[in-house]
Amino acid sequence: MKQEDEIDNNSRRGFIKTAAVVTVAAAACGSLNCSCSSKKAPAAEKVRLLSPDGEIVEIDSAYLNHQENMAVLSQHDQRVGIPGKKFVMVVDLARCKNARKCVSACQKHHYRPEDTEWLTVKLMKDSDNSAPYWFPKQCFHCDNPPCVKVCPVDATFKRQDGLVLIDNERCIGCKFCMAACPYSTRVFNWAEPEMPFEIKGLAYNAETGVPAKVGTVEKCDFCPDRSREGLLPPCVEACPNGVFYFGDENEDTVTNGDETIGFKQLIKDRAAYRFLEELGTKPRVYYLPPKDRQFPVERGYENLPDKLKARFKDIIEEEKKRP
Ligand code: SF4
Repeated sequence: MKQEDEIDNNSRRGFIKTAAVVTVAAAACGSLNCSCSSKKAPAAEKVRLLSPDGEIVEIDSAYLNHQENMAVLSQHDQRVGIPGKKFVMVVDLARCKNARKCVSACQKHHYRPEDTEWLTVKLMKDSDNSAPYWFPKQCFHCDNPPCVKVCPVDATFKRQDGLVLIDNERCIGCKFCMAACPYSTRVFNWAEPEMPFEIKGLAYNAETGVPAKVGTVEKCDFCPDRSREGLLPPCVEACPNGVFYFGDENEDTVTNGDETIGFKQLIKDRAAYRFLEELGTKPRVYYLPPKDRQFPVERGYENLPDKLKARFKDIIEEEKKRP
């Protein structure tokens, strides 16, 4: 019975994800059978999408998730963004137990090595006497981004759909943006990135950030390539605890794959806040406070590799001593 429930739940989850972002998929294709019809022969797997007319249609998964398709996106479209969208993320700190599935899904999707985290999970403690909690952090896609202002070559830019991206063809590796970001969310490519041969051969695309280039800066990009294909970012999909809600502020809707909720109501009801709001950067990531946490921090600590355990050891030891 449990297994059946899980299967049912998984298929429902998959469907909600595709349905919730259908307008993005339609925008990517113009219509559901437009440019797709000229692509290569369909594979066996089918996915269901909600058409702009409100009908459920089945299309071949081979038409989705193509890095190759993204490579032909014009530079103008890469700079302007997805029309009509204003992407936003809400992170529920009460649910995070440092499962780190978000981190590994992000690294896999972006072909990043383990030691380069665009998305990190920190252990936070707001005061000596308050309890610690896990805090996922990535680029906040600020509406007033200091990183963009300092770039001398216009390599990093803010789009109409809210995303802050980097064009690594223009980036000269000066690292001014890294110094300007008050959240330390950018990383530098010190070594020649290791990528699959077929990815290395693609034309560079600022929306996917591939092929990555040595000597340039990178960071979380909110995965617009996935949005164009009607999919959620891999970190949102991979989280087993439903921590990440992603969506569109213009549509006033966010989803973690299981629940689809009104964005404004959610941040109002749960007293959401933005990290270091007082800096005036206007992040597009909101946090729901870790009130009534679902997991003790020890749950996220015990299974960590030793290297990461060492990072958080002091806080955890202190926590254990508390009555
Ligand atoms: Fe720029 Fe940092 Fe804001 Fe991201 S979090 S937009 S890198 S200032």
